Amino acid sequence: MANFDDRYPLDKWRDADHSVMQEFSLAGKKGFVTGAAGGIGRSAAAAWAEAGADVALVDLPAKLDQLESLAAEMSDKYGVTVVAIGCDVSDPDSVAALKTTLVDRLGTVDIAFLNAGVCLTDDSIDIPFDKWQKTLDINLSGAFMTGQIAHQIMREHGHGGSLIFTSSTAGHTVLNMGGFPAPNMSYGVTKAGVTRYTQYLAAALAPYGIRSNAITPGYIWSGIFGDSVSEEGHDAMLQMVPERRFARNDELQGLLVFLASDASAYVTGTDTPIDGGLLVY
Ligand code: NAD
Repeated sequence: MANFDDRYPLDKWRDADHSVMQEFSLAGKKGFVTGAAGGIGRSAAAAWAEAGADVALVDLPAKLDQLESLAAEMSDKYGVTVVAIGCDVSDPDSVAALKTTLVDRLGTVDIAFLNAGVCLTDDSIDIPFDKWQKTLDINLSGAFMTGQIAHQIMREHGHGGSLIFTSSTAGHTVLNMGGFPAPNMSYGVTKAGVTRYTQYLAAALAPYGIRSNAITPGYIWSGIFGDSVSEEGHDAMLQMVPERRFARNDELQGLLVFLASDASAYVTGTDTPIDGGLLVY
């Protein structure tokens, strides 16, 4: 019989230098967040900065001024390097340029939150093809391309890392709004694809020490809803949410630090709902 105790110490907590809280630290790590001008993205970037990482905020070039000011605010508050980079995640040339800029400005990438996404209006069975295509280009091809440059940098630099993708409850089920399907058909299709892409990467990248996980937000009050939600619409959405409220963006921060950090070293290929219980139905 082999003795596995050296390989798998049973009581690592007894070691003088072991600290589970220390495993949540991101000190010394470098990362980027796409969709970083948006609600979930900027809150995630702030969480990573607070946990000690240097972070690149990535969003559409038209939002560069907003990103610069967020970067200044975060580096002042947390004392780490935070930089702003404009990139359209649906444009292959723009993503190729992002890869070069990330290495120039941060040195490498250890953690990446591939989170940029849109949910367009009139997204139901008669959606025009151009809207369908735009949703696929940003949500699915954007996740594919930004995830790809992230793991390529990790492999080229010979170290592991953590990729986190943003899926959605709409990628797991057809959301019911007052007895009708919520108008997010192509959106849900892209998010189902994001979840499967996440799992494929987990299997393919494990030999490189790279983990790949997704989060599945339910209803999070962020820029994605804009001014489009009436009081009635708000209540209709929450009928399927046991918690009966939207989440705040900061309520995702803990999960995003966990998945980026060594505290989740054995977690890969997962997709964690953070949805107030929505997916129980
Ligand atoms: P948000 O609108 O506040 O942020 C989305 C960000 O993505 C914006 O800053 C936008 O400029 C950026 N973006 C859009 N197209 C882009 C492109 N082509 N290139 C680069 N950046 C682009 O909304 P959010 O809620 O913070 O969304 C973040 C992610 O969370 C999205 O993928 C969204 O689908 C997902 N999500 C949100 C909810 C929710 O309830 N808010 C629920 C499930 C999933």
